[in-house]
Amino acid sequence: MATIFDVIIIGAGPAGLTSAIYARRAGKSVLILEKESIGGQIATSPKVENYPSIISISGTELMDNMMNQATELGADFDIDEVKHIEKVDGLFHLTGEYGNYTAKSVIIATGCSHRSINAKGVEDFIGNGVSYCAVCDGSFYQNQDVCLIGDANTALQYALMLSNICHKVYVCTLFDKFFGEDILVQALLKRENVEITHNLLLQEVKGSDEVEEVIFKDTKTEEIKSYAVKGLFIAIGQIPHNENFTNVVDLDKDGYIVATDDCFTKTEGLYVAGDCRKKALRQVATAIGDAALAATMAVKYLDQLK
Ligand SMILES: Cc1cc2nc3c(=O)[nH]c(=O)nc-3n(C[C@H](O)[C@H](O)[C@H](O)COP(=O)(O)OP(=O)(O)OC[C@H]3O[C@@H](n4cnc5c(N)ncnc54)[C@H](O)[C@@H]3O)c2cc1C
Repeated sequence: MATIFDVIIIGAGPAGLTSAIYARRAGKSVLILEKESIGGQIATSPKVENYPSIISISGTELMDNMMNQATELGADFDIDEVKHIEKVDGLFHLTGEYGNYTAKSVIIATGCSHRSINAKGVEDFIGNGVSYCAVCDGSFYQNQDVCLIGDANTALQYALMLSNICHKVYVCTLFDKFFGEDILVQALLKRENVEITHNLLLQEVKGSDEVEEVIFKDTKTEEIKSYAVKGLFIAIGQIPHNENFTNVVDLDKDGYIVATDDCFTKTEGLYVAGDCRKKALRQVATAIGDAALAATMAVKYLDQLK
């Protein structure tokens, strides 16, 4: 007979691994299912400097430590992509690409990914000048010139934040206006170190070891525009990985899972943690905060089943 786990956790990013640590320390059997590689998004970051008590660490090292802690506590781990969840007679049946799994409770910690731009150099400079997160990386560009691409609320908030830190912020949008809240647009227009240019399409990111130049084409005039900057921030949206779970959770208009403050979803015994849920800030600190709550709620639910 197949093993019935107390908790199956979907995703081995900060939220998934922290959930595993909490559930194992509470004595529950745990299986983590991960579709790609251990560590989630943060594992791609060369430098993390806002994780309390660690001044500076690479994302890979941070996540190796979290993974070791989870597995040393006895969490099981498998590589598989969960395609479907069904709750039948109080048990959760998960269908993966390679196998089927059963659990009494489930934590979805599938995160999200950033929308990128298919232009020359973008991928090559991620972590060396190209960033998707001003909260994470803005402070690396103190008193330097940066460029930011985006036209909605996150981009506007990032631009305001960067203008507090950087010498000059070039804000470039693809269309001829902003789509975010007017109060943010008005605040940005007042910043003297911000230069806004609309109708720009990114062509190329150039540099040697780090970003040195960002090149755009004006979509109206075809004119080429170049900015000598140290950093390029891309804030054109994120894609949550929740499309396989729409039968058991509610999603908001952007595809994020709607949950209570304590990480309950609409299905009893099913919890959500991290970037894949509706929330105001997507960071490691908030992902692991959710995870501690989600796992503790799962443990409470399991104890009540007895
Ligand atoms: C380049 C970069 C730099 C960053 N820098 C910082 C920083 O300095 N500080 C900070 O606090 N935050 C930073 N962030 C944000 C931070 O990485 C995220 O907030 C955090 O990783 C969210 O954790 P998570 O576990 O919720 O999701 P993720 O890290 O996205 O992990 C989710 C995991 O679930 C897996 N998965 C998805 N769907 C399935 C499925 N169906 N089945 C199985 N597995 C699945 C994914 O493969 C992934 O491994 C950065 C992000 C990036 C991209």
